Order: sequence, then C-alpha cells, then structure tokens
Amino acid sequence: MSAYREGDRTVVLIPARMSKAEEQRWVSVMLDKLAAQESKRVLGDAELTERAERLSAQYFDGRARPASVRWVTNQNTRWGSCTPAEGSIRLSHRLQGMPEYVIDYVLLHELAHLLVPGHGPRFWRLLEAYPRTERARGYLEGVVAADRLPHVPGARSE
Ligand SMILES: [Zn+2]
Repeated sequence: MSAYREGDRTVVLIPARMSKAEEQRWVSVMLDKLAAQESKRVLGDAELTERAERLSAQYFDGRARPASVRWVTNQNTRWGSCTPAEGSIRLSHRLQGMPEYVIDYVLLHELAHLLVPGHGPRFWRLLEAYPRTERARGYLEGVVAADRLPHVPGARSE
C-alpha cells in the first residue's frame, strides 16, 4: 500500500481484493500518514549528530561517541548501520517521517554498536535503558510486514 501526490491529485495504491469498507478505512489511514510525513521536517545531518550525542548522554552515560551521523539513500534492507572504527553511523532515509521515538531507537541501536558489536545479551541490556525499545521494534516490524502485502497494479485516486 502506498500513497503519493501527483500534481493536485493524491494517489492511493491498495490491493484490489479489499471490500469497500476496508478500502475507505485504508484510504483514510494512508492519507493521514501522507499528511504526517509532509508536516514533519526532516532533521539535517548536523541535527541528527546532535540528537545522537544527546541520546548517548541520556542513556549510555555519554560513552558512545559518534563522529558522524548521516542519512543515506542506498540502504534499503537495514534501518541503520555503523562503522565502530570510524564512529560513523548511517540511517536509512526510509526512517524519515517515522515517529521520533522510532528514529531515536535506531540511533540508540547504532550507538550501542559503537560499544558492543553483535546482538548478544550485553547489547540488548544496553538498549533496555531506552523505555520505548519494544514499541519501536514493533513499529518497524509492522512497516516491514505492510511492505510485503501484495500489491496489485492499478491506482485509485482520491
Ligand atoms: Zn544491530
């Protein structure tokens, strides 16, 4: 399912097998999502770095020190990645427009990797400090699941 603007029309793509009622519900969900994305200002790389430093101070006693944090558009299967040797963190542009607590979770996840490689118990113990880890992981899983819903060619306009 997706929605986008085309000139002054809004196009919402939804599976053809939906009932009228489902269709209406999803169209309104997609329109809300689109409006939310448009109203949200995208953080610049400098702001992203500042945010990561703040999160590190708040949850990891400032021990994770990112040298650079930036958005990348070539990362479609991962939400974030980091190179501990350089202290560099990259976030997928697909996170832009998602709730801030989700972006913060991905930042914290990558910051934690500056301290602990891999996803062992020590890694997750670090992330327990952030109260919305489970909620953010659930949100991202939901996004992945929604992406895998069957798409049917053909657009309906609203
Ligand atoms: Zn990881």
